[in-house]
Amino acid sequence: MKNIIIFGAPGSGKGTYSDEIVKRYGMSHISTGDVLRGEIKEGSELGKIAQGYIDKGQLIPDELMISILAKVYDEQPAGKGVIFDGFPRTIAQAEALKQMLAERGHDMGVMIELVVDEDILLARLLNRAIEQGRADDNEATIKARFEVYHKQTAPLAEWFGQQGIRHTFLWSENPSKEAMLEAIYDFLDKENA
Ligand code: AMP
Repeated sequence: MKNIIIFGAPGSGKGTYSDEIVKRYGMSHISTGDVLRGEIKEGSELGKIAQGYIDKGQLIPDELMISILAKVYDEQPAGKGVIFDGFPRTIAQAEALKQMLAERGHDMGVMIELVVDEDILLARLLNRAIEQGRADDNEATIKARFEVYHKQTAPLAEWFGQQGIRHTFLWSENPSKEAMLEAIYDFLDKENA
């Protein structure tokens, strides 16, 4: 199975679709947000550093994030393919990911971009705040995360386009979780045939 980078704004469904893709194709899943929340729960040094950024909706510095990612990647079982969820979020992270994979004889595989209207994203995040109690799903932090997304992360979509691996899925064309998943599965089945 090829590696997958799942890409989109906060609330676009990266985690939800990753879980389904993992179930169907049996690959590994690296969610950098989950890794950081795990460190915070454990009370580790890294968790203490990460907390300050997450609470403000800001990104953890690239260098730190890149070293965490490489460590977690090397812990995954070989040969199954990895879905990267929440990483990369900056061009520096993307360049580092490409290099880190090349050093191991691997490549980025395919990038799946989820495009969802902002009013739907906001409603989903507010709903997630109630259902899951994520500390950074409050209105002020959500606003900051959108700003960070537009400024630092969205320009990356074009970078993936230049790499020739960007594949965009529009919620407006597939307006339900099931329809989005069908479109993504169709694409991945062909990619891996
Ligand atoms: P997520 O669960 O992917 O929405 O991530 C939650 C928070 O973790 C983000 O708002 C950032 O503060 C931090 N984070 C997760 N992934 C990254 C990353 N690749 N680079 C920098 N910060 C990250």
